[in-house]
Amino acid sequence: TTGNAWRLALATLRPDWPLLLATSVSLAGTILFTLLFPLAIGEVFDVVRAQGGLAVANGAPAPAVVNPFAGLGGAAASPTSFRAALAKLATCLVLSATGNALVSYFSTLLGERFANRLKGQLMETIMARPQSFFDASTKGDLVSRLTVDVTVLQTTLADFIGQRGFRSVFEVVGALLFIGLQQPLLALVSFAITPALSRLLRSVVVRSSSLIYRRQQVAAEALEFAGERLAQVQTVQVFAQERREADAFARLSASGYSMAERYAVFQGIVEGSGRLAVNVGTVALLGLGGLLVLQGRISVGALLAVNVFNLFISVGLSAVAASFGELGKAVGALERVADLVAPAGASMDGTAAAEGSKASSSSNNSEAAATHAVASAAAEPGQVTACSSDSSHASTSGRVELRDVWFKYPGAQEWAVRGLNLTIEPGQTLALVGPSGGGKSTIAALLLGLYTPQQGAILIDGRPLGSSNGTAGGGAAAAGMAAVLQQPMLMSGSVRQQISYGKPDASFEEIAEAARAAHADEFVEQLPQGYDTEVGERGHALSGGQKQRLAIARALLLHPKILVLDEVTSALDVASERAISDTLRHLGATKLIIAHRLSTVRRADSIAVVVDGSVSEQGSHAELLALGGRYAQLVNTAELGNYWVQAGA
Ligand code: ADP
Repeated sequence: TTGNAWRLALATLRPDWPLLLATSVSLAGTILFTLLFPLAIGEVFDVVRAQGGLAVANGAPAPAVVNPFAGLGGAAASPTSFRAALAKLATCLVLSATGNALVSYFSTLLGERFANRLKGQLMETIMARPQSFFDASTKGDLVSRLTVDVTVLQTTLADFIGQRGFRSVFEVVGALLFIGLQQPLLALVSFAITPALSRLLRSVVVRSSSLIYRRQQVAAEALEFAGERLAQVQTVQVFAQERREADAFARLSASGYSMAERYAVFQGIVEGSGRLAVNVGTVALLGLGGLLVLQGRISVGALLAVNVFNLFISVGLSAVAASFGELGKAVGALERVADLVAPAGASMDGTAAAEGSKASSSSNNSEAAATHAVASAAAEPGQVTACSSDSSHASTSGRVELRDVWFKYPGAQEWAVRGLNLTIEPGQTLALVGPSGGGKSTIAALLLGLYTPQQGAILIDGRPLGSSNGTAGGGAAAAGMAAVLQQPMLMSGSVRQQISYGKPDASFEEIAEAARAAHADEFVEQLPQGYDTEVGERGHALSGGQKQRLAIARALLLHPKILVLDEVTSALDVASERAISDTLRHLGATKLIIAHRLSTVRRADSIAVVVDGSVSEQGSHAELLALGGRYAQLVNTAELGNYWVQAGA
């Protein structure tokens, strides 16, 4: 996954190459002027010394200044050369400060753009995932990857490229080179501290990377926990469990503490050894370098320059250490993020990710075929989308056919749908009834393309569902389907936006018409700002029935040729229920209704009783009653008690 992670990072960075280039150029300039700074100091010192006649201890002539500033030996010292040396020093300082400002500016922008692009890409791939992916992940974890992890990446990128990482590496290497030019021996001394430190750093980076990864997972769990409990706060309060939940949350949050503690130890080691390296290095260099000065082999200015360089090296090394520590964190974050984008080792662009999920679903197929000989005998494995050849008889639009469909939820033991055969002719209404857990919702989800069956085919007008695009769900809209699911949740936005969700460019007339058809227009017009009223989690509170009506309007706006309805049992009052079902009945669309009301069932063209994942009997109300089977039993129960509502619970 690490390879994927880096590929993802590079691919995300690539579009910003001009900015990356600008950062690199200004970084190179900054490093250059920073490295010239100690030389300029040394030169000022030597010039002053030569001019002021500071006698060398043993009366020997002052050694020439050994540095790249041409033509400025100690012998040529004059007021002009002093001023020139000072000017050089000032220039170095001004230019390196300017460079710093530019690097900081460019790299911050780079981090920001990187993060925005990554977030957009992540959101897109996440949303395109099949339902099984969401069944297996928690919202807190996904949100934490989108926010916390991406932010870690953003700051690290800016820090590593712009502020500390790269620059410190170059400064350390450059400083070593300059010292080596002056006196290889001194460079050796300075360098001797490096290997020990770097070995330490590598182990710190590796360990803190995995620590931080786990720490972030724990944080995501706590986030998820808090989100869920806050969403259910009424239940918590009614059952007086505030204390217990708060304690549990505190425990969850604190369980990351021991990891944070160990991380803190690593950070401490890095900081402490950094300081020690500075001090040891300074003492050693002053001692050895001082000796060389006394022997007349280097100038005092050179010694000064060497010491400033050495300061660069030790400070640079601890900056590298800290920056690499951050990098470890970022690698953990990057891997978590890359997991989302390309789980099965596929590369990170959209098409490849889609292929990856197809590949994994076909491996499910073969697994299913291997473990369930019954299923494989009934249908060839892997033939989910290969049934378009014999579709010539489907002429009118909106024909639905489920052909020998087998489906098992990922990780489940039992088939939720087993060998299901269902056909709905264009414009007809099929009501699904049956005991809770029988598989009605699963059938609806399969028809909507939210899950892919392991075996069998789902044909819309003879064409396999979702054959046009690889993403989950998108297949339904592409096939002309719309759905009203149970407990419609509204996203934040105005009423107008709720209704036009599936067709954002719908005109106001279309929206108002859909609202009228769903009997939502009356209450909408009474809202404070009418169609512009904000609803959803943070907006105007709507009743269950009102939300339901908006959900119906949202579906009707699309003029679907197929409508999937999960009938609500209690959200609508009797009058509006009747009005809406009249509207729906006169709608030309083919309808699949998960029915909880006897009145709906009676009027359906056909009724399928779904038990244990397959249809146990099918026919009209009268036919099924005459059959005297399961359906007759259900209807009788309904007359005794309130079976239909129970079935929906
Ligand atoms: P119904 O709608 O008739 O009440 P469902 O389609 O919801 O029945 O459920 C059919 C079976 O599939 C049940 O055994 C249920 O436990 C199982 N099931 C439903 N949803 C999931 C899911 N997301 N993950 C795993 N199993 C599920």
